[in-house]
Amino acid sequence: MNQIFADVILPLPVKGSFTYAVPEGIDLTIGQRVVVQFGSRKFYTAIVLKIHNEKPKKYDAKELLAILDEKAIVNEKQLQFWLWITEYYMCNLGDVMNAALPSSFKLASETKVMIHADFDGDLQDLNEHETAIVNALLHQEELSVQEIIPLINNKSVFGIINEMIRKEIVLLKEDLHDKYKEKIIRIVELASENLQLKLTEKQEQLLLHFSDLKIQFPKKKWTVTDLIKKAKVSRGVLDALVKKGVFKIELQSISRLLNDFEKTETTKELTAPQQKAFEQIKDSFKDKKICLLHGVTSSGKTEIYIKLMEEQLAKGKQVLYLLPEIALTTQIISRLRKHFGNKVGVTHSHLNNSERVEVWKAVQEKGKSKPQYPIMLGARSALFLPFDNLGLIIVDEEHDPSYKQHQPAPRYHARDTAIYLANIHKAPLLLGSATPSLESYYNATESKYNLVELNSRYQGLEMPKIKCVDIRKAHLKKQMQAQFSPKLLNEIKETIASGKQVILFQNRRGYSPILSCTTCAFTPNCKHCDVSLTYHKWQNQIKCHYCGYAENIPTVCPSCTATDFDSKGFGTEQIQESLNALLPEATISRMDYDTTRKKYAHQEIIREFEQGRIDILVGTQMVTKGLDFDNVAVVGILNADNMLHYPDFRAYERAFQLMMQVAGRAGRKGKQGKVLLQTYDEKHKVIQLLKAHNFKQFYSEQIDERKIFNYPPFSRIIGITLKHKDKNRLDKASNQLAIQLRKSFLHRVLGPEYPSISKIRNYYHKDILLKIEHKASVKKAKTILNSIIKKLQEQKDFRSVRIILDVDPV
Ligand code: ADP
Ligand code: ZN
Repeated sequence: MNQIFADVILPLPVKGSFTYAVPEGIDLTIGQRVVVQFGSRKFYTAIVLKIHNEKPKKYDAKELLAILDEKAIVNEKQLQFWLWITEYYMCNLGDVMNAALPSSFKLASETKVMIHADFDGDLQDLNEHETAIVNALLHQEELSVQEIIPLINNKSVFGIINEMIRKEIVLLKEDLHDKYKEKIIRIVELASENLQLKLTEKQEQLLLHFSDLKIQFPKKKWTVTDLIKKAKVSRGVLDALVKKGVFKIELQSISRLLNDFEKTETTKELTAPQQKAFEQIKDSFKDKKICLLHGVTSSGKTEIYIKLMEEQLAKGKQVLYLLPEIALTTQIISRLRKHFGNKVGVTHSHLNNSERVEVWKAVQEKGKSKPQYPIMLGARSALFLPFDNLGLIIVDEEHDPSYKQHQPAPRYHARDTAIYLANIHKAPLLLGSATPSLESYYNATESKYNLVELNSRYQGLEMPKIKCVDIRKAHLKKQMQAQFSPKLLNEIKETIASGKQVILFQNRRGYSPILSCTTCAFTPNCKHCDVSLTYHKWQNQIKCHYCGYAENIPTVCPSCTATDFDSKGFGTEQIQESLNALLPEATISRMDYDTTRKKYAHQEIIREFEQGRIDILVGTQMVTKGLDFDNVAVVGILNADNMLHYPDFRAYERAFQLMMQVAGRAGRKGKQGKVLLQTYDEKHKVIQLLKAHNFKQFYSEQIDERKIFNYPPFSRIIGITLKHKDKNRLDKASNQLAIQLRKSFLHRVLGPEYPSISKIRNYYHKDILLKIEHKASVKKAKTILNSIIKKLQEQKDFRSVRIILDVDPV
């Protein structure tokens, strides 16, 4: 009988797949997980990619050690998808496997396990192996799989541990850190209406204030903190009223996991323009598979998606709905669950391993039973779920740069990758945006995609009015209060006084970007990176936004020993602080990277804002995207200029999209919204086009420039970054690489150059760009590039130089 071999994918950054011998009598399927030894002592979970009879020529194939699953856990469509990503984005198959699978699906010898907190300690139901492992874990808090192997003397250790994870006896160490703590708030309510009690003056004042607030905002709930702040009384006054039985305090969890997904909404009727767009989209799928829906903000794109999803559901197909950010999934998931109940699943990078496993299983069709989540909503990693039967992919906010993964590999763009995934499933793909990317809009004008337009807001509401505020003048006249012009500040005051809400956008987090000595202008830099540290006032620290390095604010200047520091520029944290001082009555919250690192933090902030418990929401780009709030009357853009003056060929496109999107958050229901845009440069053409809501003009000017300078979509870019701790060696390597590349690619090679931040985490960086014309074969170019890089890395001197490829960088 012929010996059988299996090519397997290892969860490691190594090129290609590896061949192992399949022991006799073992029945193997593609997509199954197996355990293999790789290197002298290490064991890994691998995925079977191919089964064949060809003995490897260069090495003796080791035997597979064990099979982990009865059935394939990755289907063939997924494997085809992984292979495409590997080739297109020039990365390793193992990188894709790592991105795709939840961590407990890929146990390795180094994986650490611990006792699950919920395990009751009862050893009775455990088998012999499980008992041995639990006993060992009672003595030692954590064990690596490698350490467990001798305990049970059994080759199927991965299988045993997997089963113990499933039974919640043990968990992976990495899961330990994201236990979720519920946030509880205290809501004040009247306990009884007509009490004949004697109240003190302060108590009277609080009760009156509360009644006023209830009349002004009948639906709004008041927390203890907000109420005593508004009424300007102490906590003691409120406590006394609770004691007297006037008020009661109810504890509420504002972040209850959305576990209760009752379908509550009858389907909304599409308006005539929406219906027309809906029909056009369906029509367009008949001849072309990709359609771009260009619909202004609040035109009801989401309602159209819902209708399209309903149709797929009726046909028994799956739908993937991609969003660029976790913050957005929060709102859309509740909208979808109102329509589809518990048929909608959600996934994003904040899920822990067990939650990811659950989602994976719920998407997978097991035997004949239907997947539990025919509709999956998610950020980019949702592309890797085990879909088998996709009928439609929707890429919402398709222009958003967050769709691109920067670190680690695979450095894929979720929108472009979704196009390939749709293709595998022969499913149509809908791209949606109010501000399409130049690339997609170009494809639509070139008839590669179909274009459907929706030019009016729901209920014919007018687009928000965008007004510029010249802060140069305000500065000259010394009218600025902190970062606010009198116009913006007044507008904010009036808005919240009338019970409406405000969103303020500043494209920079932290307190202020730069701290400098007032005497000698010294500015502290990161020890490991070539950037100045950002001032975070709240923590009284300066931090590096590239490597996380932090130090306390210096008390004396290391350069001149003076003791006075001043800060330049401002971030979201400083805006919040200024507002707290300027408008002590208002409730102000902040949404940026720093306030949303905890699990469900987005959800909490968004929900508090929806429920009217926040008057002003300050944030970075996170507040600009797709959010749908009913009560936002004014949007303020604190500084439009820093986005425009950014050295990148996409700077104008980004600035236009960001400002147009954040403007779109204003006046979504009832009344036209207002946008105040603070700028030094009112005449700037991007700002003028923004004021006119003129996307088409903006597009045509930009696309002309891209053509002249041969930037995407007229060319493809591959970014090559070289990194090394030794600057000299890096220079030599990158010069040599550029020379070699120029031999094949001529003028298409740009650089090497130091990027604007030339050192990160002690590694110097150098960039080379390859620009390939659209007509040329990218495939061929990639093959040449790979072989040139390989030759460079074969030189002893350059072996330690790290080379990172980024295909279609954004
Ligand atoms: P977009 O996704 O284009 O920004 P949305 O779908 O969020 O727009 O619609 C904006 C708001 O208008 C939402 O609150 C939505 O529920 C409401 N809306 C849109 N179309 C309809 C409709 N046909 N019937 C009822 N409400 C609608
Ligand atoms: Zn740093």
